[in-house]
Amino acid sequence: MIKSLIITLLIVLTITMKDTTKTNTSTTNTYTIVIHGGAGTIKKEKLTEKKEKEYKTLLSLALETGKFHLEKGGTAMETTEMVIKILEDSPLFNAGRGSVFNHKGFQEMDASIMDGRDLTFGAVAGFTNLKNPIEGARIVKDSTKHAFLYGERGQEFCLSKGAIYADSSYFYSEYRWKQYQRALKRDAIELDHSDDEDAEKDEILDSKKFGTVGCVVLDKYGNLAAGTSTGGLTNKKFGRIGDSPIIGAGTYANNESCAVSCTGNGEYFLRGTIARDISALMEYKNYSLKKSGNKTLKKLSDMHGKGGFISVDKNGNYIMMFNTRGMYRGVATSKGEFKVGMYSTFD
Ligand code: ASP
Repeated sequence: MIKSLIITLLIVLTITMKDTTKTNTSTTNTYTIVIHGGAGTIKKEKLTEKKEKEYKTLLSLALETGKFHLEKGGTAMETTEMVIKILEDSPLFNAGRGSVFNHKGFQEMDASIMDGRDLTFGAVAGFTNLKNPIEGARIVKDSTKHAFLYGERGQEFCLSKGAIYADSSYFYSEYRWKQYQRALKRDAIELDHSDDEDAEKDEILDSKKFGTVGCVVLDKYGNLAAGTSTGGLTNKKFGRIGDSPIIGAGTYANNESCAVSCTGNGEYFLRGTIARDISALMEYKNYSLKKSGNKTLKKLSDMHGKGGFISVDKNGNYIMMFNTRGMYRGVATSKGEFKVGMYSTFD
């Protein structure tokens, strides 16, 4: 069942997704792909076996698809977009179809994608009716001289370039609506990433286990790419833009260092330029990816920011770090490593 789904997906996706800017054609035959589906209060005792399985199946499907494409010589950019689309199409994650509601009851989505080869990127913010916001980000990158489009007019442009429209009913789910109603009642912005231990707040904590999605890739040609897509925060102020579409905050990729995608309460990632810091420590201080990640996570924690990030470097080393209870995540490499998980350890 999963296999045939993957094959159908691949046929559709590889036709619609050709990275025409393959610059380097010599291959190393090694690749790494890392994904996340948000970090937050993810408690084993709160997740039914069925739900846990749903998450793992979806994460595995996304990884399998990415791996298959990379194996066949697909580029980091193509793979990043392809994999994020799969995560956006699932109501399980707070991106695309599963996006949370803002204070006015709209779903406003942000996304970005960055190419480590030449530091070009595309970003979108405040989009309400693009089936796949990451597609909008890629269109901005490939079809304009600009880097960032926002709101209704930006969306209009992406639609004119072939992005798929989706009516608001496509994004509606009762679960998200109830989550929004609860947040409204409490007049709270649901950060989706609290580690609050208060048992009375369990119902609220339950609604904090879905998050942004992201993907970072090193392809066989030695190129890096990163992408992030999100619905933001439940009950966020209308018009609010988080870190996910901001290069250097929620997303970054540079062939000289690493590719990064973040998830967490975006305002802290914006203040701390978290994604860029991980890369800069490698570029300027010659840190290893792990050392850069540790240092940057400490910086985030010291600022009281909550969340995490995934990253892969130019040699295929990867990290998945977070200061919350868990993070939906997974990794696949050309060396045969393949794992998905969500709790503090991969059990
Ligand atoms: N970072 C996202 C934002 O602040 C939210 C998330 O990661 O779940 O918009």
